[in-house]
Amino acid sequence: MHDNDLSAIIEADRAHVWHHMFQHQLLESRDPRIIVEGKGMRVWDQNGREFLDAVSGGVWTVNVGYGRERIANAVRDQLIKMNYFAGSAGSIPAAKFAEVLTAKTPGLSRMYYCNSGSEANEKAFKMVRQISAQRYGGKKSKILYRDRDYHGTTIATLSACGQQQRAAHYGPFVPDFVEVPHCLEYRKQWDVENYGERAAEAIEEVILREGPDTVGAICLEPVTAGGGVITPPKGYWEKIQEICRKYDILLHIDEVVCGMGRTGEWFGYQNYGIEPDFVTTAKGVASGYAAIAVMLASDRVFDMFKDKPEDPLNHFRDISTFGGCTGGPAAALENVAIIEEEGLLDNTKVMGKRLLDGLAALEDKHELIGNTRGLGLFCGAELVADRETKEPLSEKLVQAVVAECDKQGVIIGATMRSLPGFNNTLCFSPALISKADDIDEILTAVDNALTTVAAAM
Ligand code: PMP
Repeated sequence: MHDNDLSAIIEADRAHVWHHMFQHQLLESRDPRIIVEGKGMRVWDQNGREFLDAVSGGVWTVNVGYGRERIANAVRDQLIKMNYFAGSAGSIPAAKFAEVLTAKTPGLSRMYYCNSGSEANEKAFKMVRQISAQRYGGKKSKILYRDRDYHGTTIATLSACGQQQRAAHYGPFVPDFVEVPHCLEYRKQWDVENYGERAAEAIEEVILREGPDTVGAICLEPVTAGGGVITPPKGYWEKIQEICRKYDILLHIDEVVCGMGRTGEWFGYQNYGIEPDFVTTAKGVASGYAAIAVMLASDRVFDMFKDKPEDPLNHFRDISTFGGCTGGPAAALENVAIIEEEGLLDNTKVMGKRLLDGLAALEDKHELIGNTRGLGLFCGAELVADRETKEPLSEKLVQAVVAECDKQGVIIGATMRSLPGFNNTLCFSPALISKADDIDEILTAVDNALTTVAAAM
């Protein structure tokens, strides 16, 4: 089958590929979409239709944009020289990238290589349990996760899933994961002035209920992604940090989405001046040019795993087969160099503001938008059927808005498979190379789409 024989490709796809998060019945009435090519912010499908990609590869990944020859060349050169060796041996690009990235994460000087966000989170979960076993007689093994947050697709990470629709039917789950409330001020759970502090105190209440000596860690997204693009209220993170210190609880920040510049800083947590013990990051590490994820750990955590060499169980007894691929760190090194050389963190701040301001203007214009929020090039617009009651817009109508944007050649996203009834936030995460014209094109498409859907209602 030749790459250009697109009808054969489509039939092969239809007959044999099991797509992610997809009800295949739909392909009985339409063709699958095959993305054939990408350049910068644009992609082309099998029919030659051009799209502006406002979601960086569908799920917030291609931070530096498509068609980066310099990444491809670096990976090619590295693979020809030495593609893979795993186990306890290292590699040249792995050492170089670890040095480069940990220079941007003061206090977190160790990096563990693996290949997906879920896997990186599992590594941190395993470490928490091992620390509990070796230091606290197995008692401090609970891990708190937040309603609406998502940490991955494996059974353990789904046990830490605050999005019921993703976890449904996949139980029974792993014990000792405990849910805590989210911090979305728009859907207030407490009628107080200082919402951020109150939402963090709600977590403290769970810790006290469970018993602080049973809680080993808390895992949180800096800005909740799929759960509705939830930016934390003022004072939230300071209080979380204080609580973690007070009860000797390790702070695990899931930067799978927010890491690598998405929010305008290298990592989302750096917007809030906090000091995590674990940081996991994946999607933007190599912008999708290679499958690579990393878990960064503090010196304090690392030292716990090397201080008893006489104990055969004390080191971290874990391996990731494809954590030994050298293409990942080779791609990641170029990815970071591009972000630095092209000033993409600053660009993300400027373009992110343009996007958020533009969405706020659409909120003034369209009754369907209940709330807009975001940080850097990571923004959301929560759609409602009624502004007074904040009743979420139905998933069908939210998807109609997404489809109307698609018709205009702009691919946007919407929170999906989260809380039933709350899959109602449009998501925008264009590449960090976005220019003013790109942002304006996205906003125009959304403006038109909302007008069309509101008229049809
Ligand atoms: N954490 C967060 C916050 C995510 O959004 C995702 C993926 N959407 C993951 C973890 C899991 O990453 P992966 O799909 O690479 O396993």
